[in-house]
Amino acid sequence: MIIQDPDRLDAMLGRLKLTAIRERLDTLLDEAARQELSLREALAYLCAQEVARKEDRRIQMGLSIARFPFVRTLDGFDFSAQPAVDPAQIRELACGRWIANGDALLLLGPPGVGKSHLAVALGREAVRAGYSTLFTTATALITQLVSAHAAGSLEERLRHFAKPKLLIIDELGYLPLEPGAANLFFQLVSRRYERGSLLVTSNRAVSEWGEVFGDAVVATAILDRLLHHSHVLTIRGDSYRLRTKRKAGLIKPSSAAIGQPFVQP
Ligand code: ADP
Ligand code: MG
Repeated sequence: MIIQDPDRLDAMLGRLKLTAIRERLDTLLDEAARQELSLREALAYLCAQEVARKEDRRIQMGLSIARFPFVRTLDGFDFSAQPAVDPAQIRELACGRWIANGDALLLLGPPGVGKSHLAVALGREAVRAGYSTLFTTATALITQLVSAHAAGSLEERLRHFAKPKLLIIDELGYLPLEPGAANLFFQLVSRRYERGSLLVTSNRAVSEWGEVFGDAVVATAILDRLLHHSHVLTIRGDSYRLRTKRKAGLIKPSSAAIGQPFVQP
């Protein structure tokens, strides 16, 4: 007997976890009938709804696991305001081949030029492309590694940070690192080396990382691995945050130095 009890359909769709079809079954069937779809076309139409729902869920889940601190997108990035950034290069990076290859990406430049914006936007693209992603700041990362080290659970923390295919470390160099941090950071970088990608943003040039880590030898070892397969984008220019103030004539372009008491980003 082919004909099933139609009332069981809902339960079967539930059991197969075809949520999108189940929730809108009547509407979808009406639409299929209205468009005079063949059975095969109607089935494809229903499946497409379900696939879209599952894809959406996957991305939402990936985004929540990534723990981005705010929403920033490539669409929301004004390339005309930042001539130092090549849109074609960013589009290429958004495809994620560098992540598939396990390369590193360094976004360097002074405060406010869009490093974190691009880091989050590229991270979202990575999630969309199916790469597990985790966002953290250098300070949070180091704090966690240092306290895990003290508690004897360093291995577990290193595994946590080594796991995602893409680890984004924002704001390296803004705050001085604790003693021992360089060594822990080195352990993480070596563990991820050639396995997962790192995206690091920093306001300090690579040549200053010895100072950032407070240990030139370890900094060299870190950079050796990071730069081996890497893309380095140095963004120059004035802070985007201060643009409106500049436009209003409150500050001159060259005086866009952070830290002046009257210039609050
Ligand atoms: P950085 O991390 O380099 O200090 P951010 O990425 O935090 O700078 O940028 C500062 C603020 O300005 C953020 O709100 C960011 O979204 C915005 N911003 C920076 N550059 C651009 C840009 N080119 N287009 C749009 N918004 C930008
Ligand atoms: Mg930033």
